[in-house]
Amino acid sequence: MLKVNEIFKSIQGESSYAGLPCVFVRLTGCNLRCSYCDTEYAFEEGEDLALEEIIRQVEKYNCPLIEITGGEPLLQPGVFQLAEELLDRGFRVLLETNGSIDISALDGRIIKVLDVKCPGSGESKKMRWDNLNQVGPDDEVKFVISSKEDYDWAKDVIEKRVPDGPKVLMAPVFGRVELADLSEWILRDNLRVRLQPQLQKIIWPEKERGV
Ligand code: SF4
Repeated sequence: MLKVNEIFKSIQGESSYAGLPCVFVRLTGCNLRCSYCDTEYAFEEGEDLALEEIIRQVEKYNCPLIEITGGEPLLQPGVFQLAEELLDRGFRVLLETNGSIDISALDGRIIKVLDVKCPGSGESKKMRWDNLNQVGPDDEVKFVISSKEDYDWAKDVIEKRVPDGPKVLMAPVFGRVELADLSEWILRDNLRVRLQPQLQKIIWPEKERGV
């Protein structure tokens, strides 16, 4: 049984899979309170669903790409079995996690999107740094940038703590950092990162849920 906030099909917007149709399973609950959070509705709201029911709802969309997200999905122990069942059925599974919880027990087939919370989030001290030793070439490390100070901090972390291998993404907080400014900083410093706009906010700027 898992407490689920919402299950929906949308366009992947926040990873290197951006642009692809994707079914999102958003689990309820989060242990952080980021200053720019746009899914506060997932902190408490949700419905207890059996694993089989979640899989039934996912399968009805007939879409090969699934993202398990939150909130923070690793707060619910049942997430491990959910991911394994989806992988065993042939789905490609992305799991986005906020960086504060140990990811070492995750099935190696899961594509991990590991957030590293910058100071502007107000939650950077909660980062579990050892998680950066658990990501491989198929995984992604994501920095959400809300200021030039965040960018400089992220650049330092990338140089000193992010191992070779995972893709590294930088996403500007919508309304706080302009895409053009972040692009210029990346180019000027010759950073080998992927600029990752929050695609769903460009497509559906007014929509607050189900994107
Ligand atoms: S980790 Fe994600 S869901 Fe939790 S507060 Fe931060 S942005 Fe919101």
